[in-house]
Amino acid sequence: PACFVLENAMAGPSLVVLSGPSGAGKSTLLKKLIKEYDSVFAFVLSHTTRNPRPGEENGKDYHYVTREVMQAGINNGEFVEHAEFSGNLYGTSKAAVQDVQARNRIGILAANSQGVKNFKETDLNCIYISIQPPSMGVLEKRLRGRESETEESIQKRLKTAKAEMEFSEEPGVFDAVIVNNDLRTAYDELKKFLLEKIKVKESN
Ligand code: 5GP
Repeated sequence: PACFVLENAMAGPSLVVLSGPSGAGKSTLLKKLIKEYDSVFAFVLSHTTRNPRPGEENGKDYHYVTREVMQAGINNGEFVEHAEFSGNLYGTSKAAVQDVQARNRIGILAANSQGVKNFKETDLNCIYISIQPPSMGVLEKRLRGRESETEESIQKRLKTAKAEMEFSEEPGVFDAVIVNNDLRTAYDELKKFLLEKIKVKESN
């Protein structure tokens, strides 16, 4: 298989921020991209106070921490940004960003709309991409299809989904908006957009 590397890691963006409602497919797309371009992109490991879903692993999907631990880290200036979502805290630590930068990768992560606003306040050079579901009905179906989410959690996520979807229409916020109707098509669009923005060369 072909191997791709960054042409000039210093010249380009340092982070790709994917946003959009819960259930739009952000993490599926992000994982696919990292799998195909693992010498270009690396996952930025966020912190959260929510419980791991079945199959999720501490240190792989998130750093799972208590609210006390996370709040102490925030107070201590250890986070680039943080936000409250659906009753839990989520945030990106400085260490997580430095980790991908030290490996000469472009960091990629999912964040809610507050996270996008937060990143825009930092001096990090980010690409912002909104991932949208084709409709509210499809979104609900996907959230229910996870089977790991409680009814309460589904309801909370659906409640915030409308605002998260509307945020994608705010002018000047996103560099690209991708509707994830079909995963393969959405992935191809994401890939095309990013590879045009980021100079990648083939190496052996
Ligand atoms: P989930 O519980 O489904 O993994 O994530 C819930 C929401 O939190 C999603 O919108 C996700 O993109 C967002 N999120 C995940 N990590 C971070 C983070 O580090 N910062 C912010 N602001 N949001 C995050």
